[in-house]
Amino acid sequence: MSLEATTNLEQELNPWLAAETRFDLAAARLGLDDGMRKILSKPARELTVNIPVQLDDGRLQVFTGYRVQHSIARGPAKGGIRFAPDVTLDEVRALASWMTWKCAVVNIPFGGGKGGVICDPAVMSEGELERITRRYTAEIMDFLGPERDVPAPDMNTNEQTMAWIMDTYSMHKRTTVTAVVTGKPLNLGGSRGRPEATGRGCTIVSLQALKKFGLDPASSRVVIQGFGNVGSMAARLMARAGFKIVCIAEVEGAVYNPHGLDIAALLKHRKDSGSILDFPGAENMDAHEALFLDCDVLLPAAKEGVITSENAAKVRAKILCEGANGPTTAVADDILADNNVFVIPDILANAGGVTVSYFEWVQDRQGFFWNEQLVNGRLEEIMVNSFRDVVSYAEKHGVNNRIAAYMLALDRVAFAVKLRGIYA
Ligand code: NAD
Repeated sequence: MSLEATTNLEQELNPWLAAETRFDLAAARLGLDDGMRKILSKPARELTVNIPVQLDDGRLQVFTGYRVQHSIARGPAKGGIRFAPDVTLDEVRALASWMTWKCAVVNIPFGGGKGGVICDPAVMSEGELERITRRYTAEIMDFLGPERDVPAPDMNTNEQTMAWIMDTYSMHKRTTVTAVVTGKPLNLGGSRGRPEATGRGCTIVSLQALKKFGLDPASSRVVIQGFGNVGSMAARLMARAGFKIVCIAEVEGAVYNPHGLDIAALLKHRKDSGSILDFPGAENMDAHEALFLDCDVLLPAAKEGVITSENAAKVRAKILCEGANGPTTAVADDILADNNVFVIPDILANAGGVTVSYFEWVQDRQGFFWNEQLVNGRLEEIMVNSFRDVVSYAEKHGVNNRIAAYMLALDRVAFAVKLRGIYA
């Protein structure tokens, strides 16, 4: 590959540039004025903190962390915190802006935020993770609060991390403040249905897309990349809805069965053997090739930047349901559109998670908890309505679903900014 091609691909894979490209296209189509474009294109606040942590062997190490609030125009900033060795400020910025648009697409009263700490949880002990989480929380505490900024789990953080954040914040406030984070354990102010919410949302919008094309779940083949929280929950719920899950891809490889995989048995097989490979009745295949299988629904649910200008033409799915954040680059969007792939963009497809986070925040503030049926019913209503809003917006304005989702979101956020006016 030439140096120029490498540099272009590197740029294409920069999540902030990908977010900006879609923003610019949607803003131009909306005819957003220059001043509003300037306001909405920049994150409102960015905080970088250096976090000293004593390691188990006694050494002191300083980790860098970020919290970006992209917008608070429609409500408190909302968005996860990820721990990973390759976290960058550009990535956190992009993820924060996607949260702003995602909350606006599903019309919940939040802005967008995201956080990240550069660290490698795979080599850290539980105690080290707790100390890094607590000190990071203390460093960004002036930003946080149920009315200010409400974090949630993301890559390599979980309900335990949220419990530590809630406790640290509460210790400083001298009172228990459960609504400061979502994705908490159930008996600490968490919501029923939250662990399944993102996968459930993906299932709901995939069913809506099938319905639109007059397809039947029973004759629809699904390929899923990533068998973590989103991928495994979506697999279970899609299988329950009648879909045939023909392939699951993980880092170690993929398993394929054209007649459909038994998802509960595959989860057990991975638990027992440590891998999805060598699953009885299925064939092993190359993980990368899974993306290019002939199928009705392709659900990338692993990470950013997996469908690029280099491979988008090979995607043969009818429907691309983006469970992950940013799985498709902006350049790949055009290729998919030329090939008539029906894209359910990430800011719609995976919004089930933040929607039930919103329900968790509401329940914490009310101190009154809902049963699972109520949570799932309200989630379904929001996802179905949002799918309809985006698709009808796309048809009305002659744009693809992604640009339609951005236009809808930008319009809602711009309207809030206009109503509030500019404080001087
Ligand atoms: P997770 O860590 O639970 O699962 C990700 C899975 O993908 C892991 O099992 C990992 O091994 C696998 N994976 C990583 N690289 C891969 C590759 N190259 N090929 C195949 N598999 C690979 O994370 P998650 O919470 O399921 O999140 C997945 C994506 O969904 C992320 O982009 C995240 O930002 C997004 N998302 C998650 C939620 C949520 O509620 N968890 C909500 C919205 C968006």
